[in-house]
Amino acid sequence: MAVGPERGSIPAGTLWGYGLPSIPVGRHKVAIVADITTVKLLSVLAILAALFSLALGGLATAQAVPLPRPRPGQISTAAPTPEGTAEEAAPSACRLRLTAELAVAPSLPALIGPGECAVEDAVRLEAVWLADKTRVTVTPPAVVRCSFAEAIVRWVREDLAPAVRPMGGPPKSVDNYDAYDCRGRNRMVGAKLSEHGKGNALDVRSLRLANGTVLELTDPQVAKEFRDRVRKDACARFSTVLGPGSDGYHESHVHVDLAERAGGYRMCQWDVREPGEEAAQVPLPPPRPAAAP
Ligand SMILES: [Zn+2]
Repeated sequence: MAVGPERGSIPAGTLWGYGLPSIPVGRHKVAIVADITTVKLLSVLAILAALFSLALGGLATAQAVPLPRPRPGQISTAAPTPEGTAEEAAPSACRLRLTAELAVAPSLPALIGPGECAVEDAVRLEAVWLADKTRVTVTPPAVVRCSFAEAIVRWVREDLAPAVRPMGGPPKSVDNYDAYDCRGRNRMVGAKLSEHGKGNALDVRSLRLANGTVLELTDPQVAKEFRDRVRKDACARFSTVLGPGSDGYHESHVHVDLAERAGGYRMCQWDVREPGEEAAQVPLPPPRPAAAP
């Protein structure tokens, strides 16, 4: 018959599980067994610790291996977006006034040019809507500052459209010979910055009507009454109007801008000529660069 453990004794090899020989149990002996067990436990812990540090070492080694550089396409070039960027900025008062009912004029990012050729609040004026929903295209679209686009829109709606009605209107398109263009006046290098460089000017050669008629503003063959009317309206609306007879650079187109001058000085220089007068002695301007719109 098997002898079971006595009450109060600790059967070695069963309770501790380390295969220790059975030792008569007393308070003192238990302490020895505990010490031996502690040593064994510490050994196991040390082994575990060694294994753990080995594993860590392996991990550290893995981390030390340099990673391949990201391909150029993987490098993020997106700059952090600070709050209050242009896209998030509140629209200008002009932008709010220049509605889709008046014009097709999407906003552009600020124009950054050399020197003073910087334009905030730029738009691409593509078309003007007349009150009767007639679309008047700006050909090609004119990049100008919003306030100047607004002036052009009003000019087309309030002055040009009524003026061309008797001529075979309504208007279909307005020719944009030049709009935003970072350059000196009359394309002279070193000259004072043109209003074109500020997105504050437009050169117009002609208006095309819905019936196909093309009205050249500087053509003496075009009804003088019509051209007189356009000149009078333009000079009332814009602070600068330059046409034939002004300086030799505007014989084939009319320049309008909203230059601000001391004392509100305005320039209205456009000789509306009769047929035969076009031979008036004026200096011929140099040819325009081919790239000019
Ligand atoms: Zn001009």
